[in-house]
Amino acid sequence: MKNVYLDNNATTQVAPEVLDAMMPFLRDMWGNPSSIHTFGGQVARYIDKARAEVASLFGADASEIVFTSCGSESDNAAIRGAVEAFGTRPRIVTTRVEHPAVLSTCRHLRDAGYDVVELGVDSAGELDLDDLRKAIEGVPVLVSIMWANNETGVIFPIEEIADIVKSVGGVLHVDAVQAVGKLPIDLRAVPVDLLSLSGHKLHAPKGIGALYIRKGTKVRPFLLGGHQEGGRRAGTENVPYIVGLGRACTLAAEWMPHETSKLAALRDKLEAGILATCEDATVNGSTANRLPNTSNVSLEFVEGEAILLHLNDLGIAASSGSACTSGSLEPSHVIRAMGVPFTAAHGSTRFSLSRYSTEQEIDYVLKHMPRIVKKLRELSPFGRK
Ligand code: PLP
Repeated sequence: MKNVYLDNNATTQVAPEVLDAMMPFLRDMWGNPSSIHTFGGQVARYIDKARAEVASLFGADASEIVFTSCGSESDNAAIRGAVEAFGTRPRIVTTRVEHPAVLSTCRHLRDAGYDVVELGVDSAGELDLDDLRKAIEGVPVLVSIMWANNETGVIFPIEEIADIVKSVGGVLHVDAVQAVGKLPIDLRAVPVDLLSLSGHKLHAPKGIGALYIRKGTKVRPFLLGGHQEGGRRAGTENVPYIVGLGRACTLAAEWMPHETSKLAALRDKLEAGILATCEDATVNGSTANRLPNTSNVSLEFVEGEAILLHLNDLGIAASSGSACTSGSLEPSHVIRAMGVPFTAAHGSTRFSLSRYSTEQEIDYVLKHMPRIVKKLRELSPFGRK
């Protein structure tokens, strides 16, 4: 079997329906939506439709959606735009397990003189909400916390977090890049102020994202120029990709109710199979509060990269928790923040499934994993017998 793609938290395949929806806007309807003539006018209403489709996936109003180029842009724009609109310098509270798009932005602001607090997590990757309560007490505050972790799939209790942040009048940004399209979200019930999402994590193409800005939330415009996106983000709209994101959101809403349990069952089969057939395997992150598509498994005494290379030779795409940059094989900041022991952290491997994953694919991975792990352990530099 070739091409078993289990790296969907990195990026997803563009859904055929999304591509079909986009093509007319690359081929025929290429007008500038700001133009008064028919070329433009016929296109503008499709942007409105896409905005409504995105908003409807999580109970927002279309007027609260700003299209961006990616999740990273949405995160940057939300955090920088909100702190600069505060009037006074707020404290910024985030977590140690955020995506670099959030962490680097907060650390950049710390270097510029902002007071930044990074909350830790426990060994299951979960937050202690009392730490959050203490960190936001008595100061103006912007809180940026992710809905679901890209490496472990651990879900943070955003409903509770939102109530806590709102109780002190703080502003809450949520990086929901991994949650949108995988978890039911209803922002009518959860008082999040700003929420980031990214098209390529939910079967739209790379190069399109969105930022939800709750009505009344103060955010400095993040790209100056024309009047597009309500003056918040200038630049002629990326119409085909916006249309694609809209379609992807509608598809996600259709798939989610009946696919979530199928996805979780496949993920659980994969995980249980690995735990049963590979010695010294442990799951990273809470299994109770997790995205249905994600499993992060540590295999002690082996390097995650070596597992990935062997899987890749078999046509299986997964991901590792360690960043092989500069040859250091440093475990990822998420796994480190959870205090996973060194020998396990290095063998952390993430499998992330999608609506296109099949049982045959899972069986194929399970057939090969024990042999790969056994072979690598025999060659292990970490000193296992
Ligand atoms: N936030 C999270 C949680 C992510 O997983 C990612 C991408 O992996 C991003 C932000 C950045 O999204 P993008 O790749 O669209 O910039």
